[in-house]
Amino acid sequence: MPLQPPCPICNREAGVPIAELRFGEKPHLPSAITLHGCADCDFAFTWPRDPTGYRDYYAAVANDTAQRHGQYRNLPQAEILAGLIASRPIRSVLDFGCGGGGLLHVLAERFPQVRFLGFDVNANFPSDLPNLRFSDQFPAAGHDLVILSHVVEHMADIDQIKDLFGLVGDGGLVHIETPDPKLYAARPQPHFGYYVDRLHINHFSQRAILKIAPQGFDVVAGGTYAMPYALGEFYPAQYVVLQNRRAEQAVPAAIETYLRAEAPRWAEVRAQLRDRKFFVYGFGDNFHRSLLPGGPLHGLEGNVIAVIDRNAATLAADGQARFQFVDPTEIVRIDGGLIVCTVSQFSKLDDFFRETYPRSEVRYV
Ligand SMILES: [Zn+2]
Repeated sequence: MPLQPPCPICNREAGVPIAELRFGEKPHLPSAITLHGCADCDFAFTWPRDPTGYRDYYAAVANDTAQRHGQYRNLPQAEILAGLIASRPIRSVLDFGCGGGGLLHVLAERFPQVRFLGFDVNANFPSDLPNLRFSDQFPAAGHDLVILSHVVEHMADIDQIKDLFGLVGDGGLVHIETPDPKLYAARPQPHFGYYVDRLHINHFSQRAILKIAPQGFDVVAGGTYAMPYALGEFYPAQYVVLQNRRAEQAVPAAIETYLRAEAPRWAEVRAQLRDRKFFVYGFGDNFHRSLLPGGPLHGLEGNVIAVIDRNAATLAADGQARFQFVDPTEIVRIDGGLIVCTVSQFSKLDDFFRETYPRSEVRYV
């Protein structure tokens, strides 16, 4: 058996072709291709796929007329994107592979305070809106939202798709929309083999899209819908929205930050209590945590006269020899001493302390 081509995503050798396809002669495009699958990536791709040929082809053809201003009819897509823009602090939007720019016209009219940029290989046309411009120059990075609408299924070089994630700023979103191969069979088609052609060279699943996303990008939304295409026809489309969380602290580091954040405050409490003897109110979790390194009572076990607790008798009998215990009703013993309370100060103990131990100073930690 001849060697099969490698999966462009995972580089493993693909299985035998799912289909062999033939087309008429066209400049820059192959007239015979095979379609292969990768089960690991949940992905299918055509072969051969010469990036130079495809680049030259797209540079030579006119933009998709269905995407032109005034002819854009993909309102479900515009609604999905408008929802994203409205619900997040998005100030700049890039449509990479914007075609005729129809989508951006709809969005730019709706969000006059947001800057929109459309890029395509031949998108050097003017805009009639102040917050919308088009360019055929590869865009700069740092956008809050990058739209890749029916772009990545046309790109022969998977590494180039991966690079596009670099156009998103910290915390920003990538909206990727492609045909949904899992719905090809469920959608009526105008002719045989409609969904397998030589321009859709990548057939993505959501898993495959995730596999090409760099580490630090998480899925925040996704779905499928019937995309209005030619008159009265619908195309099965899927979209996935990923967020750039690379600048966020990882969970372990975020917890360390949290624990360190109030260190000076607790060091000050320790310094104030170092030369004093005190009662502690409550032998619960908070008390035990307060004794941990960095905690307000760390190293001050010897300063504790006794722990005030309703279960004082039981605790004393349990042989918790490290501490003395005193029942809250032993007022004569407690009143006048400093009471350190490790229970939250929001728990309305104030009145209880004031009425029960009127001569005591209470310190919440
Ligand atoms: Zn693969």
